[in-house]
Amino acid sequence: RAVSAQPESPREEALERALRPKGLAEYVGQAKAREQLEIFIGAAKKRREALDHVLLFGPPGLGKTTLSHIIAYELGVNLRQTSGPVLEKPKDLAALLTNLEPNDVLFIDEIHRLSPVVEEILYPALEDYQIDIMIGEGPSARSIKLDLQPFTLVGATTRAGMLTNPLRDRFGIVARLEFYSPEELELIVRRSASLLQVPLDAAGGFEIARRSRGTPRIANRLLRRVRDYAEVKGNGRITEDTAQRALAMLDVDALGFDLMDRKLLEALIHKFDGGPVGLDNIAASIGEEPGTIEDVIEPYLIQQGYLQRTPRGRIATQAAYRHLGLAAPSAAHD
Ligand code: ADP
Repeated sequence: RAVSAQPESPREEALERALRPKGLAEYVGQAKAREQLEIFIGAAKKRREALDHVLLFGPPGLGKTTLSHIIAYELGVNLRQTSGPVLEKPKDLAALLTNLEPNDVLFIDEIHRLSPVVEEILYPALEDYQIDIMIGEGPSARSIKLDLQPFTLVGATTRAGMLTNPLRDRFGIVARLEFYSPEELELIVRRSASLLQVPLDAAGGFEIARRSRGTPRIANRLLRRVRDYAEVKGNGRITEDTAQRALAMLDVDALGFDLMDRKLLEALIHKFDGGPVGLDNIAASIGEEPGTIEDVIEPYLIQQGYLQRTPRGRIATQAAYRHLGLAAPSAAHD
């Protein structure tokens, strides 16, 4: 399970769609982003204008796609969905843009992966609802301007720092999604359990919630796997005990760290004396992509205080030593 917070299969994606909250009121947590959006969506609707362009950033599985659907739903407009790597040529994006109806939402996932030529035609579209497209070829080629309907771009990225400045500057609303608290995840687990008609004890639900790396996608996934376990090994009901045994079988430890989390911390401590060590070195030593470490594995370990990113490299904290059952050297950070 290398990229633990991405959807693992088309089947999982379909299940996710079924569990996706429709409106803002059902969207759990992210109080700050929700409040901002409530106000700006309300104002845009009142003026019958397109909502300002929205940039959503944060680790995978925290609800960026869900929020983009909610924005369109609350505005009462269509949503068109694509992603940075899918838009290979300017004409791919032009086709989408010219088909938008007034005030529609265009969602571009992984917007940091847009190619420069595609990004180039996005600028005037965002600013003036216009695009320049080339007609014909060779000496007779000419560029014409096309007017677009007013629209809202919702861009999602795991790291805002990977966007070019001119692109970032064109978003009027920027929302950073945070990891969820165990209490928030408990609400999500309970809601999903009731949609999936899984019998769940309060303690069983909380056990799954607090071991889900602060991430709704993981909470929903663990819920389904614990359900399988409860059906085969028990009477189908998820209790604290079945949850604990199922999670142990899945190699999810008491803190919710998975194999990759522990592999990273162990390498840092055993191979690099607790650091500091550069990203590329640690990536090579555990056979993982640097980008995956940065976007998927590290953020939660850092937020929980088990790893620090310093100018000289990554270091393991005292808590990381303790968690692996090791004595921390006195020099290790708190
Ligand atoms: P991202 O686009 O950030 O990778 P998604 O929007 O696809 O994440 O969310 C992954 C899953 O988690 C979805 O199936 C959705 O049901 C669930 N989810 C995400 N955020 C919330 C939330 N705030 N409340 C309830 N469920 C959520």
